[in-house]
Amino acid sequence: MQSGTRPIFPFSAIVGQDEMKLALICTAVDPSIGGVLVFGDRGTGKSTAIRALAALLPPMHAVVGCRYACDPADPDAWCTECRERAVGGMLKHRSIPVPVVDMPLGVTEDRVVGALDLERALSQGVKAFEPGLLARANRGFLYIDEVNLLEDHLVDLLIDVAASGENLVEREGLSVRHPARFVLIGSGNPEEGELRPQLLDRFGLSVEISTPNELGERVTIVKRRDEFERDKVEFVAKWEKLDAAMRRRIVAARKRVASISTPDAVLESAARLCMQLGTDGLRAELTLMRAARALASFEQSETVSVGHVRRIAASALRHRLRRDPLDESGSAVRIDRAVHEALGS
Ligand SMILES: [Zn+2]
Repeated sequence: MQSGTRPIFPFSAIVGQDEMKLALICTAVDPSIGGVLVFGDRGTGKSTAIRALAALLPPMHAVVGCRYACDPADPDAWCTECRERAVGGMLKHRSIPVPVVDMPLGVTEDRVVGALDLERALSQGVKAFEPGLLARANRGFLYIDEVNLLEDHLVDLLIDVAASGENLVEREGLSVRHPARFVLIGSGNPEEGELRPQLLDRFGLSVEISTPNELGERVTIVKRRDEFERDKVEFVAKWEKLDAAMRRRIVAARKRVASISTPDAVLESAARLCMQLGTDGLRAELTLMRAARALASFEQSETVSVGHVRRIAASALRHRLRRDPLDESGSAVRIDRAVHEALGS
């Protein structure tokens, strides 16, 4: 269901990359999990997966004429203009695809947060605001390729906005605020610059992807990519049934997620696992629980099980491990070991 724009590689046709697909699905089911950090080599199709997921999600209803694509059914999140429009009567709405906005490296802060035209404000007494990338990303995904190369102050800003769901622009006593709820997706290559631990911790999930080294998988990837390039429309049509089934599952999981229960025994297991790994604070446990709940909902379970926690543990915890000078094993090995010790096999 891609409305009018150019065809996008179907989510269901993506070969392998199970951890990334699962992490993206979990955040689509419950965006409060927070963003996803994708570690991996170049050319492993990171941005393809995000675009594919966004294209798979049902189109959103957005207020006609609103620069932030406000949801007519969610008055609490309306921008100032929509509140004013609503006073005048019913808001008209239209369907638009879920946005995926790219954050280019070297982007200026004005371009990101939007620009206030002080001169016009002073001379004509109007608030002249030119919305930025955060406005366009509202209710969708904001994708930063190579987040480790983005300037620190911009990263901090993005993470704060992603957490609060609101962008506040202030210049010389003037201010504009607008909704900016998005899922932040960052990709990073650990060999090209370290990410600060405070930053890592603010992402909900992280995944590691690599170029597949299994022969059959590589051949399938190349075949599908080639087929897609040769006739995009036909390729998308061929996968539409599977994508539609996936869409229905995600939509159903979203509706159900708030009613999924988490037994105390499962909470205790999650806490034991985090203690075992020595993750700081409670953010790790909270994210682990939310992600396990989203997974349970996606799999049509009524309660979260230790199995759900086990399967999402690496994604929820990998980026929160402190470096242990006495233990040089990789994060995957450390998590595996802790999962085994805390949750059993
Ligand atoms: Zn609005």
